[in-house]
Amino acid sequence: MYLKQIEQLVVLQKVDDEIIVIEKELESLPKELAALEEKNAKLTERMEQTKERTDILLHQQRLLADEIDSNDSKIKKSKNKLMMAGNTREYQAMMREMDNMEKINRSREEEKIALMDEMNRQKERQTAAEAEAEELKGQLEECSANLKKRTATAKKRLTKLQKDRETACEVIPPRVLGRYEFIRARIQHPVIVPVDEAVCNGCHILIPPQIFNELQRGEQILSCPNCQRLIYWTNHFCAPADAPAAPAAEVEAEEQE
Ligand SMILES: [Zn+2]
Repeated sequence: MYLKQIEQLVVLQKVDDEIIVIEKELESLPKELAALEEKNAKLTERMEQTKERTDILLHQQRLLADEIDSNDSKIKKSKNKLMMAGNTREYQAMMREMDNMEKINRSREEEKIALMDEMNRQKERQTAAEAEAEELKGQLEECSANLKKRTATAKKRLTKLQKDRETACEVIPPRVLGRYEFIRARIQHPVIVPVDEAVCNGCHILIPPQIFNELQRGEQILSCPNCQRLIYWTNHFCAPADAPAAPAAEVEAEEQE
């Protein structure tokens, strides 16, 4: 009776352990996709910024080209007018103006080159971003499909585990189940732990001799006085090394009958 109850509790705990793992997985699965989507949003934003910057550069290039053209034609006109200069002073004034204009145009040409360099940098950035976007698109599609598949599998497994849990709960006496649930709600997993050589496997502290003696008698379900977890003596099970495995296998076999 006592051993049977311990066995069932260990089975219940195995089910609960897996439920915890699967619930965590279900929680974390959408996070991978969300992270990729966030990356994608940032990339799109970056591409828009590059596009904006390129548009500004194009506009600046047009303005510069217009200015250079207009200066060129002014220089040409001034050259033609030079012949008509009435005196030296007028001639020199026109020459100075032409020199100035040519100087301005030379610096405008330098600006034009700088603009082109900047434009090329933006183009490179855009090309790199487009390649990244293409790769990210593939990753997103894969992750999304994977998410659906893995979520479905995990949910299916969870439904099965919850059924297993109900089955296990049916055979565990309500008083014992109540203690298990009480402890489960208050302390970290695991709830039921083996005691090997008088040491609690939950908190790794020595069980007082009197309680250890009682535990060895195997008459009632005891708690570790230190961590409050339910305890059982490993020697009560044939294979002390993996005590929880033996009862689990047995109950699984019963289920299949
Ligand atoms: Zn303990």
